[in-house]
Order: sequence, then C-alpha cells, then structure tokens
Amino acid sequence: MIDSPKHEGMRHRLVEQLRQKGIENQATLSAIAAVPRHLFLDSGFLDHAYEDKAFPIAADQTISQPYTVAFQTELLQCCAGSKVLEIGTGSGYQTAVLCHMGIEVYSIERQQTLFKKTSLFLPKLGFHAKKLIFGDGYKGYIEAAPYNGIIVTAGAPELPKALLAQLAIGGRMVIPVGKDQQIMTLFVRTGVKSFAKKTFGEFRFVPLLSDKASTAS
Ligand code: SAH
Repeated sequence: MIDSPKHEGMRHRLVEQLRQKGIENQATLSAIAAVPRHLFLDSGFLDHAYEDKAFPIAADQTISQPYTVAFQTELLQCCAGSKVLEIGTGSGYQTAVLCHMGIEVYSIERQQTLFKKTSLFLPKLGFHAKKLIFGDGYKGYIEAAPYNGIIVTAGAPELPKALLAQLAIGGRMVIPVGKDQQIMTLFVRTGVKSFAKKTFGEFRFVPLLSDKASTAS
C-alpha cells in the first residue's frame, strides 16, 4: 500500500471540510493534508479513509475522527520543537500528525498489540516519535516531563491528576472528560499550583482505562 495523487486529492477535500467546520490553524491543516490516513486503517475501510469519521482499529479501539484530531491539535497550540505527551497512541495517526508538525512526541499506549504494531509502522512511514511507551497513560511519563502540551485521545471518566502535574508552566492539556459522552476540556497551567480551565463541545471517545497496561489483544 502506498500513497498516491488520488489519496492526496482526497486529503485536500478533507482539509476543506475541516476548514468549513471551523479549524483554522494552518500547521494542523497542513499535517492533515500530508499524513496518509488510509495507511492507518484496516483494509476493509480503505475507501472511507478520508471521510470525517472514526473507524475501528485492532483491540476494539478506534482511530479518531479527523475533525477530532484537528480540534485537539489546534487547541494544543504547540509548534515545532515543543514537547508533547500523547495518551493513547492507538493507530498512531494523531502521533503522525504531531510528528509532521515538528513536535517532539512522547506517546503512551496500554494495549500491547497496538503498541507493537504502531511502533513498527510509524517509522516505516517516516514518522519518528521521540518515544513510544507501553504502559498506563493515567500516570503520564514523568521521565520526560514537563511537557508543553498533553493530549489525551481517550475519554477520561475522571481527571488524571498526575498528568496536570507533568505540564510545564504555560503548558496546555487537552482532554475529553466524561463517562458516556465527553466534554472536550482545556487546562492551561498558569502557575506552579494554578490552572485555567475551559470547556468545549461534546465528543465521543473510547474510554481511558485506569488499570495496568493490557497484553490481551
Ligand atoms: N490517537 C489514537 C486514538 C486511539 S483510541 C489514534 O489516532 O488512532 C484511544 C487509545 O487509548 C486506544 O488505543 C486505547 O487502547 C488507549 N488507552 C486507553 N486507556 C489508556 C491508558 N490508560 N493509557 C494509555 N493508553 C490508553
């Protein structure tokens, strides 16, 4: 499977749709225009890769809808050279979007099957995360903290406090919070002990699971 001008054209149409839905950040849109999403999907969904929809991937998980990826990426406001922690590597699509933007990406996945698959796949496409980690994202990754941005790509029934503590001052965390439906929430660290919080619309994510990392497929 390779990229092609046909797929490139489909991506440009997707970018137009995202623009119409309100995404403005040029770096985000350029990354969506560049990352070959069709290569991140199981073959059964290839024809639909550039529809603005989520699709199933391995281990009962999903690749997020492009609008959601764009919305979260835009809210992060991170630029080339900044350090971002992603919780929920999944297919690696969001990771690739951040890598394309020149961001130094650390990404954690708790499903071993997905972790292994994506760890092999991303470098093949030329996307080099700083580090992919197999583990429980609820705890974050203290070894590389503090981060300029933290992006959580699974729905958090409750707020993982450890993650807030790993934000740099001025850093931003974008996290969908809630059980059945989630409210997209932005936390900005305004001081050592202070955070500003802003909420956005409702989104729907697979759950952020708080138990230890899973080797089941
Ligand atoms: N960013 C991904 C979205 C995948 S769905 C993509 O673009 O494809 C969310 C992912 O979060 C799933 O792969 C799920 O296994 C993972 N996840 C859920 N709870 C987690 C946790 N506590 N730590 C790390 N990953 C987790």
